[in-house]
Amino acid sequence: MPTVTIGDHAIDKIVEIAGPFMHAQDFFPDLTADMLETCRRELPAGQIAANGFLNMSYHCFLLRTPGRTILIDTCCGNDKERVSRPEFHHLRSGFLATLAAAGVQPEQVDLVMCTHLHWDHVGWNTRLIDGSWVPTFANAKYVIGRTEYEYWDAAHRRGDTSIHSDSFADSVLPVKRAEQVVLVEDDHELDAGIVLEPCFGHSAGHLVVNIASRGARAVVTGDVLHHQIQLRFPSMSTRADTDRERARQTRTALIEKHAGTGTLLLPAHFVPPSVGRIERAGEGFRYAPLAGT
Ligand SMILES: [Zn+2]
Repeated sequence: MPTVTIGDHAIDKIVEIAGPFMHAQDFFPDLTADMLETCRRELPAGQIAANGFLNMSYHCFLLRTPGRTILIDTCCGNDKERVSRPEFHHLRSGFLATLAAAGVQPEQVDLVMCTHLHWDHVGWNTRLIDGSWVPTFANAKYVIGRTEYEYWDAAHRRGDTSIHSDSFADSVLPVKRAEQVVLVEDDHELDAGIVLEPCFGHSAGHLVVNIASRGARAVVTGDVLHHQIQLRFPSMSTRADTDRERARQTRTALIEKHAGTGTLLLPAHFVPPSVGRIERAGEGFRYAPLAGT
């Protein structure tokens, strides 16, 4: 996508992989056949595949402020053991080449901001070198919310075997051992005008990143939203949400907060055009994406 400017800041989308990976009614357990049909009719083309699978993108955002190069989340990663998700098992993507095409080498990244510690957001935190997982971004501090870190640290210690504990072991602990992790409170200011905000529910300590500069505003929403279906039907939580009721409350509040304000939304999984604004439409909402994003 073309670089998006928010005041003094530049934002690029770094895409790792995209496609139809799961049926809409598998991912949204409360989505009825009628609701799916409504979405097929009303959402823009390309959102839902002909077989009812959701088209989803796995990307992260590169945020360049006047003083810092910040990567917000790091997608799925190469070579990771993800047997429960065959499409991502031992993935070999061109993520670092895409980052280089945007003008950034790994050693130039100053901060990695993890919205949450799910496997598809921390993968490139590390890469496999001579059989060991090492931090991909050698000079970066990795910023993680304390609530989120402590949740997954406890899960890992008690022997949790979920895919997120696997990624905690291969994509978070090696960075912690390298003393590159900085645990922060849920309202931490990352840089001037760039402020974290707790949006718990999808995960125990999920954060969004609010960006404000010279009157312009954007919010990197992580996994508070996964698909435009949730703008048509905001109550739809996903089977990936840790606490579906809390996720519903958080998602609804975020949509209400930003609808009609002009704030740009930067969601982690929307297929192109990904970046846009929420507008009010009748009793509900619609997405007004920026062309080319
Ligand atoms: Zn995700």
